[in-house]
Amino acid sequence: MKENILVKYNDIHKSYGDLEVLKGINLGIHEGEKVALIGPSGSGKTTLARLLMTLEEPTEGTIEVDGKLLWHEEVNGKLQRASEKHLHEVRGNIGMVFQHFHLFPHMTVLENIMEAPMSVLGLKKSEAKKDAEEMLEKVGLIDKVDTYPAQLSGGQKQRVAIARALVMRPKIMIFDEPTSALDPELVGEVLDVIKEIALEGKMGMLLITHEMDFAMDIADRVVFFDEGIILEQGPPKELFNNPETDRLQSFLSRFT
Ligand code: ADP
Repeated sequence: MKENILVKYNDIHKSYGDLEVLKGINLGIHEGEKVALIGPSGSGKTTLARLLMTLEEPTEGTIEVDGKLLWHEEVNGKLQRASEKHLHEVRGNIGMVFQHFHLFPHMTVLENIMEAPMSVLGLKKSEAKKDAEEMLEKVGLIDKVDTYPAQLSGGQKQRVAIARALVMRPKIMIFDEPTSALDPELVGEVLDVIKEIALEGKMGMLLITHEMDFAMDIADRVVFFDEGIILEQGPPKELFNNPETDRLQSFLSRFT
C-alpha cells in the first residue's frame, strides 16, 4: 500500500509579508496513508493544507500530487506556469473538509452533494443522485436528503460536508480541524464517520486536529509542527509515548 508517494512537499517556504509561516517543509504522503498534523495554533498547519488545495501559492519550493507539479507543467520539455486545465486536473485528486462546513445554504443536502459531480465531472443527474445517496448512507444521513443546511445540527452539517467531498472520490482528503467548531456533544459522531472512512483504507488523509486520542487511533504517522518547521514525526504511539523535544512534551502535556 505504501510504495507510491501521492503528495510531496519539497522545501516549501511560505511568507505573508515579513512573516515567514513555513520555513522549509519536506513531507511526503503515501497513497492511502493517514497523516495527522498537530502543533500549537499559528504554527502553520492550515497554511500547509491550503497550499495543497491551491488556495495559496508557496513563496519557494514545489508541491507534487500524483507525480504532477501543482503550479507548473512541462510543455515541450520546458517547465512553465500551469494552465487552468492542469490545475483543475491536479485539484481533482484532492478533497477538503473545513472547520466551518461551507455548505451551500440555498440547496438541500442532496443538491449540495450532487452539485460538483454534475458541474465538475459532468455526471448525469440520475448518476449524481445515486452517488450522493450512497455517500449519505455512509455518513448516516440518508433521512436528510431534502433538508436544508440551516435545519441541521453542526455535526450533521459536517457529515454532509464530508459526503460532499467524498463523492468526488479524491485520492487524498484534507480535514482542517473538522470538529473544532462543534459543540462537544457533536464531536463524536463526526470523528466516528472520519474513522470509518479511514478504516476503508484506500484514500490518503491529511488531518489537522487537536484531538490527540483520535490521531492516535487513526493516523499512520503524526507530524508535529512548531513555528513553521516539522520538529518531530513518527508513528503515533512512538511520538506520543516518547517525545524527543521539550516543545512536543510541553505541547502534549496540555492534553493530559
Ligand atoms: P495553524 O493552522 O497552525 O494555527 P496557520 O497556518 O493558520 O497556523 O497560521 C500560521 C501563521 O500565518 C499565523 O501567524 C497566521 O496569523 C498567519 N497567516 C495565515 N494566513 C495568513 C494570511 N492570509 N495573511 C497573513 N497572515 C496569515
